[in-house]
Amino acid sequence: MNSEEIIKQLNELSFISNELEVAESDRLRMIKTVSDYANKFLSGLDDLKVFSERKPGSLVIKNKKRSLEELLNVYQAEVAETGINAASGKHLGYIPSGGIFTAALADFIAAVTNPYASVYYASPGAADIEKEVINWLKKVFSFPESSVGNLTSVGSVSALIAFTAARDKHKIKNELIQKSVVYLTEQVHHSVQKVLRIIGLEDIIIRYVELDENHRLKTNSLIKTIEKDISSGLNPFLVVGTAGTTDTGAVDPLNEISEIAKQYKMWFHVDAAYGGFFILTSKKDLFKGIENADSLIIDPHKGMFIPYGVGAVLIKDKNSVLHSNYYTANYMQDAVTEEMIKSPANLSPELTKHFRGLRVWLPLQIHGVEPFVACLEEKLLLVKYFRNKLSELGFKVGPEPDLSVSYFWYPFKFDSNEKNKQLMKEIHADGDVFLSSSVINGQFVIRIAILVFRTKKETIDKAVKMIERCLEKVMSR
Ligand SMILES: *Cc1c(COP(=O)(O)O)cnc(C)c1O
Repeated sequence: MNSEEIIKQLNELSFISNELEVAESDRLRMIKTVSDYANKFLSGLDDLKVFSERKPGSLVIKNKKRSLEELLNVYQAEVAETGINAASGKHLGYIPSGGIFTAALADFIAAVTNPYASVYYASPGAADIEKEVINWLKKVFSFPESSVGNLTSVGSVSALIAFTAARDKHKIKNELIQKSVVYLTEQVHHSVQKVLRIIGLEDIIIRYVELDENHRLKTNSLIKTIEKDISSGLNPFLVVGTAGTTDTGAVDPLNEISEIAKQYKMWFHVDAAYGGFFILTSKKDLFKGIENADSLIIDPHKGMFIPYGVGAVLIKDKNSVLHSNYYTANYMQDAVTEEMIKSPANLSPELTKHFRGLRVWLPLQIHGVEPFVACLEEKLLLVKYFRNKLSELGFKVGPEPDLSVSYFWYPFKFDSNEKNKQLMKEIHADGDVFLSSSVINGQFVIRIAILVFRTKKETIDKAVKMIERCLEKVMSR
């Protein structure tokens, strides 16, 4: 092909390909369309059902051009209005958070400017924004400056980075895997067992330590179990403490566990994915000892109300993190430099990554910390308020929770589990607020997890009314 022919073809192609570079007037129109959509969505949030079924429709990609307006209508009908409405304050199931608006703006800016956030040389500013978020987290949890951290997509990936570091620091490989022991409780999040399998520790021994009546790890049981394992020639390796369990909102006695871990030379991991940010509230004392953890995970997409897709991990031993993630295979421990840890890619399995630092950094800079803390304090009071109201109605409630998750059931005279299941079904069918269920000590219970920043007293009043309404239905059968 000669140059003339090439130029001719290029001209023809660019006529089509230029469509991807949206012109300024179209950009303005599209942003207005999206902004109008977002405003309509947000102001209509309270009127939307919090849970609805989906009838599949027109999401298929058919290589036929469709307008933004049409697609937003499709999106509203088939995504925004189906399943659980996770932006709503009426989402009180699983671990909700809402998704604050300023983080959405940050995502937009991050996507438009698209810096390469994982390598310092490629975008020193973006890498430094991530570093500043990590520095802030280190201060919040009193981690030393020498520790390292990474912003991940989710808590499960944070755990993957932490456990891999623990594995490599303690050289858990080959025959040692089957002789090494991990200490958990029945209340740990299932991502813990899942990650152990993913990182090749499927054959490790798992001990479930007893819980006290508030669903916290019993430290005397932990010591007994460790001693027994040592006398059988096993290798106590890792203990996981949870700062805010998913089911019951309990915080394990972190300080005591940290001392036990130190005494037996074990790695101490704290799963603070849900509860960690409550350290900023009046519940601070519960978190004593968290600063002694070897690794800690925390989800800004939970306790900081950032939209889904950002977790964080802090680890004290930077060598072990670099060991598995630094990209040249022949890296040597004594060559660790500040330069290496400036690039998030060296501390994570991810290379090219979403510039998620901005969605945490921008909201913190715009709002300051106070509104976040006030929201968390609110949630602590709301769970108390809810429990009082339900007790007044004759419900049984679980033990006073450490944080903002609790559970309840109605003491039906007969078939209590079956009837409480029916009550859960009625609540889901009602759809005014969303709750989820669990089984605790053989009792089917209904859980309430209050964490969305939009959840207010009015929401809880609505929840109580709905539960009352649904109870009447079950009783009248
Ligand atoms: C949510 C949660 C996780 C998992 O985090 P993801 O961000 O969903 O991967 C782990 N531990 C606890 C205690 C959690 O609440």
